[in-house]
Parts: sequence; C-alpha cells; structure tokens
Amino acid sequence: MQIVMIGAGYVGLVSGACFADFGHDVTCVDHIPEKIEALKSGKIPIFEPGLEDIVASNAKSGRLKFSTNVAEAVRSANVVFIAVGTPSRRGDGHADLSYVYDAAREIAKCIENYTVIVIKSTAPVGTGDEVARIIAETSPSAEFSVVSNPEFLREGAAINDFKHPDRIVIGVDSNDNRAREVMNQVYRPLYLNQAPILYTTRRTSELIKYAANGFLAMKITFINEIADLCEKVGADVQQVARGIGLDNRIGGKFLNAGPGYGGSCFPKDTLALAKTGQDYEAPLKLIEATIAVNDLRKRAMARKVIRALHGSVRGKTIAILGLTFKPSTDDMRDAPSLDIIQALQDAGANIRAYDPEGMPTARSLLKDIEFGENPYDICQGADALVFVTEWEQFRALDLKRIKSSLRTPVIVDLRNIYNPSSFSGTGLRYSGIGRPSSDTLES
Ligand code: NAD
Repeated sequence: MQIVMIGAGYVGLVSGACFADFGHDVTCVDHIPEKIEALKSGKIPIFEPGLEDIVASNAKSGRLKFSTNVAEAVRSANVVFIAVGTPSRRGDGHADLSYVYDAAREIAKCIENYTVIVIKSTAPVGTGDEVARIIAETSPSAEFSVVSNPEFLREGAAINDFKHPDRIVIGVDSNDNRAREVMNQVYRPLYLNQAPILYTTRRTSELIKYAANGFLAMKITFINEIADLCEKVGADVQQVARGIGLDNRIGGKFLNAGPGYGGSCFPKDTLALAKTGQDYEAPLKLIEATIAVNDLRKRAMARKVIRALHGSVRGKTIAILGLTFKPSTDDMRDAPSLDIIQALQDAGANIRAYDPEGMPTARSLLKDIEFGENPYDICQGADALVFVTEWEQFRALDLKRIKSSLRTPVIVDLRNIYNPSSFSGTGLRYSGIGRPSSDTLES
C-alpha cells in the first residue's frame, strides 16, 4: 500500500511510522517546513518513547518518507489519511474543522486514481459527509471514498497502542466494498495481533470516538468527586477505586483521582461532544456536568495547596514537580499544571518547577517561573513541594533530602504517587487526594 499521512503530529507521525514498520510505503506530509526538515535529518519534533528508533529504521529502509508537497505524495497514493488537528473553536467549543477541510481541498486537487481518504483526526459526526462533498465539488471527476477511522492511541504509550489496539473502528458505507478492501489491506498486518476490527457506518464511527473520550473523561471526573467526598467523610479513595474497579462491569482503569483531566484530547472532545448534543437537540447533560466539574477542579487544587500552607501562599515559594498533562510526553496542551500555577501565582506565590520533558514548551506558556535541573534543585528553600504529574522518576525520591531542602516540610501530592504511611516519622507533612493526610495518620 502507498499511504500518505497528512499531518505529522503526535497521531500522524506515530501512525505513519507504525504503518511503515508493518511494511507499507508511507509519506508523512506536514505544512511546517522546519518539522519536515528536522524529520528528514533524523530529529523527532516530539517526545514519544520508542518513536525515534522506529522512525530511524523505517526511514533508513526507504519505507518512510517526509515531505511538504501534498500533490506529489497524493498522486501515487492508494490511501490518504487526514491526521491534522481539530482544536476547540473559540467561542462555542465546537471542533475547528478548518484544518481538516483545507487538507481535503488540497487532496482533492491532486487525486489521479481511485483513492481512499481516511479521516483519522477526531472529527464530529457529519465531517465525513462534508469532506466527501468538498472533494466532489473541488474535483468532480475524482474517484474516491471517504472513510472514518478514529485513533485511540495514548501519548506516552502511542506505539504499543497503535500496534496492539483494543479495537480498530472503521466507518464506511456498507456498499462500498472497494474502500473496505483497501482498509482491510491497510490493517492486515494487525490481524496477527488479533486486533478486532469493527466496521460501522461513517457517522457511527465518528460518534464512537467522542463517546469513548466522553465516557473516560466522565469516569475520571466521577472518581475525583468521590475523592472530595472521601476527604470529608474520612474514607480512602484508592481503596474505593479498587473496591469498585474490581467489579468487571466498572473496571479499574481511569479511576485514579487527581487534579482533573487535561491534555490535547479530553477537554476539546468533551466540549465538541456537548456542542453536537446541543446542535441535534439531544443534550448530553452528563458530559456538560463533567466539563463544568473538571473546570472548577484546577483552581480547587490550588486552594488545596494554599490550605496546606495554613491559608496563604503570598510571598512563599512553591516547588512544582511535573508540568505535562501526563507522564512520558512533552505535551503541555491544556495541562492542569497551567491553571494550578496561574491560580497559585494569583494568590501571590513564587513558582519553581521541574519536568523531565515539558520544560521547553512550558517556558513559552508560563511567565515568571524559575525552572530547575532536577526535583531536589527546586525544593531548595521552598515552602512546599507539589506533585502535579506522576512521572515515574518522582516515585522514589530521597525523602530525607527533600526534608532537608524544604524550608517548611509540606508535600501536596495531587496524583497520589506516594503512600501516606511512607511519610510517618520523616517530619514531612503529606497530603494527597481523597486520602487521610500524614497528620491524621500520626494523630
Ligand atoms: P498535532 O497538532 O500534534 O499535529 C497536527 C499536524 O498537522 C501539525 O504538525 C500541523 O502542522 C499539521 N497540519 C495541519 N494542517 C495541515 C495541512 N493542511 N497539511 C499538512 N499538515 C497539516 O495534532 P495531534 O495531537 O496529532 O492530533 C491530530 C488529531 O488526532 C486530532 O484530531 C486529535 O484530536 C486526534 N487524536 C489525538 C491523539 C493524541 O494523543 N494526540 C489521540 C487520538 C486522536
């Protein structure tokens, strides 16, 4: 298969590299020349574990190419994936589909033979219809099919998720056997991994992606509210999560209480899903409530830190560990750290921060912050240490060293990385999310 990937971001680059690894010929196209130049010279513009190796080996074998030239790439392709961004549209929360439609127009102009255009971007119900209309209008004689094939990979585990997906969803007209056959060829290498392929209509496939993200965001928000209740009633949210998660009907994943969801997908996708519900007069009240509860949570986390410092952070220094929206990525899009830090700064705090991969982007997003070289560096003379992202390297810190570095021995763990009991006898005052604080344990 000759595959073209329009958009060489987190999804396009990972998908393109993995398809090449399966033996397809892939060209990743992006309209940012610096990105393509970097990729051609072996530099990966994002941090994603394992990606550099897989890109390097497939580029070397000639199966993976990079280009800024849509026309040249599309002309000889059997399949063209659209993997461009679909951010929130300012004002109403609908997905901004301008990048998808621009890509469709560009593709339409260069189709020479029958081509399957696959929408991999997360795009609301009806986007496939509009892409088909744009292509037919731009290029009336073009022979093509439009397919929806949403992506479910998680940043930080993207390659494994792509190669071992829970399922592959393909939305295609039931009588379009030609497109079906092409998609079978594209995903044939995954048959060996026994990945279930779910064929649906295009609209159903589009909705599956939003329903999945909406449900996961709701699950996280549910356990976050239960965590708040745990704090009031003296229960432990991790045991509650385990107690309910062992029920197969519920499942244990996405039940880690924390500072609220963020990232490049959940915030914008829940907003877009709610908007679709309103547009079609089928309001999704649960999703709307999820968005509202999650929005309030970031500032509530800042208030938690302020409470741990006896009601005021004015003039105090807070050390923040973890800035990215989750571990093992450099992605700072809608990271909870951004709102939490802003709220602490608004309350008069000075912020020091450290993140293994997020600091280059964080520097351009956050003002008046001091960045450190490592976790211990930022604790020196600080009034509190706050864990915001659960990077693995934060799990076994030298607590004695932390204690001797901090001016006041306060730790707020917004990800429940540590067991409160590990702080007894250390002299550190620890509070997590939805669990007894170390003070309570010792009293
Ligand atoms: P991204 O911003 O990292 O990448 C998009 C890329 O598309 C950018 O490099 C941009 O320059 C390029 N682009 C935009 N218009 C173009 C055009 N006309 N021609 C060529 N290149 C163009 O975005 P992403 O995180 O990869 O997300 C892409 C889509 O996949 C979104 O709809 C997102 O919701 C969805 N998705 C993302 C993830 C994730 O974890 N990031 C997971 C599943 C689905």
